[in-house]
Amino acid sequence: MSQENVTPEQEAVEYIESSGGFLDRVPSWLLSMVIHTVLLIVMMFLQVDQGSKKAAVIFQATADEEIVEEEIIEEEEEELEMDLEVEDMEEVETEVTVDTPQDVPVEVEVANDTMDDEPPPAVVEFTPTADVRANSSDNNATLNAYTSGGGLDARKHADAVAMTGGGTRASQNAVKMGLEWIARHQLANGSWNYNHCLVGNCNCGNPGSLVNCTSGATAMGILPFLGCGMTHREGTYKRQIGAGLKFLVSIMKKDPKCPGGGSLHQKEGTMYAHGLATICLTEAYAMTKEKSLKVPAQAAVNFIMYAQDPTGGGWRYSPRQAGDTSVVGWQLMALKSGYMGYLQVNPQVPAKAMNFLNSVQTENGAGYGYVTPGKTPACTAIALLCRMYYGWKQDHPALQKGVQYIGNMGPSGDMYYNYYATQVMRHYGGDQWTKWNEKMREQLVKKQDKSDGHSKGSWTPGGGHSGSGGRLYETALSIMTLEVYYRHQPIYQTQTMDKPAALE
Ligand SMILES: [Zn+2]
Repeated sequence: MSQENVTPEQEAVEYIESSGGFLDRVPSWLLSMVIHTVLLIVMMFLQVDQGSKKAAVIFQATADEEIVEEEIIEEEEEELEMDLEVEDMEEVETEVTVDTPQDVPVEVEVANDTMDDEPPPAVVEFTPTADVRANSSDNNATLNAYTSGGGLDARKHADAVAMTGGGTRASQNAVKMGLEWIARHQLANGSWNYNHCLVGNCNCGNPGSLVNCTSGATAMGILPFLGCGMTHREGTYKRQIGAGLKFLVSIMKKDPKCPGGGSLHQKEGTMYAHGLATICLTEAYAMTKEKSLKVPAQAAVNFIMYAQDPTGGGWRYSPRQAGDTSVVGWQLMALKSGYMGYLQVNPQVPAKAMNFLNSVQTENGAGYGYVTPGKTPACTAIALLCRMYYGWKQDHPALQKGVQYIGNMGPSGDMYYNYYATQVMRHYGGDQWTKWNEKMREQLVKKQDKSDGHSKGSWTPGGGHSGSGGRLYETALSIMTLEVYYRHQPIYQTQTMDKPAALE
């Protein structure tokens, strides 16, 4: 699942090649070990106060912190159990500090062999709705400082907002039918699979090939429900959403290299899947304040912060790999959702990701490439949405130019591009949005399967990634595109952010 001019085969080759880099860096590993040993001896003489160990940051950033973290690893592991008491969760939160020197590259390859010992999955039991809520006033300041718009309130009034925001009864009905299809294709263990045909009696066709990407597929199953205000606490599909969220948390893994982090990275789904699944957990937490979701949601966010390329500021398939625009888009959307849920996000992480976007931009930021400077429709749409969320004003010349480019192109048959471009156009607004919306909305309503069969309500895949993601992927992106009217609050109507009470 990447930008369209890179085939899955090319991606696979790149992925395999990239994972071979470990041996090349053995000398720096040795150097790192020597430095660590010396520092450890120095610290033993310094008699580090036991209490100060608790102040360590969750994710590794400097050599000093790694040593401290090694000493407290047992405490951290206890904290990763997802059924902790509130007091413990509070402790985890406060350990994420904002002054971590992200600029220091870290030799993360040290002791890589620990992965042989597969860490146990996390467990979650839903509790009554949380008695602890995020402090809106504190975090509203954070929101305004580092990201803007995108709140989730309008989802509660999906039908009404759709009617005033560019949707129609037909488009809302398409969303409803799409959700019915998705619910029909959930597996007994709560997951979804890109091979949706694993469900009994299914003759829908067009299964995706990524059968082992269960975290990504399950996220694709859950997100469209959350997008119109349904949660495991509210709406028609409580049971399905709850089972899906439990499945996600149950497969979350600890990573010895990222204490306090929870990984939903899978070999097939890579960091794409982790980003998608993180959006699920953070949105579900933001919408319900379900306290048993707080730790897994924060852990997933922590893993994203850890997985950022310490040099270029991007993300790609494996943690800390040099970035590509497509994977970067999902991680930045996940971090933005983290802000929405009042989780702890180190502001240096998105700030550094802007350096990555700078490195692939053309025309002063109106166009974007995949891993090098360029201008492709999908990458431009992804990057512009990120720019909008992380600081660019509506009158930014490059944004205006980029919007013009997307507007002139119009919707295509590639839902990956359509999904991002629709959000860009909607947040930007104006006549270009009106024009885009009519075409996009009618195209989706028209293309939806309206047969009486098992495939009713789904969309037949046809654009990029349709071979890997199949009908589930196409249907999820189509629904979320039709949810654009209420899925996120408009970025450039900041008055919605001045009402934290509305989040209660
Ligand atoms: Zn089916």
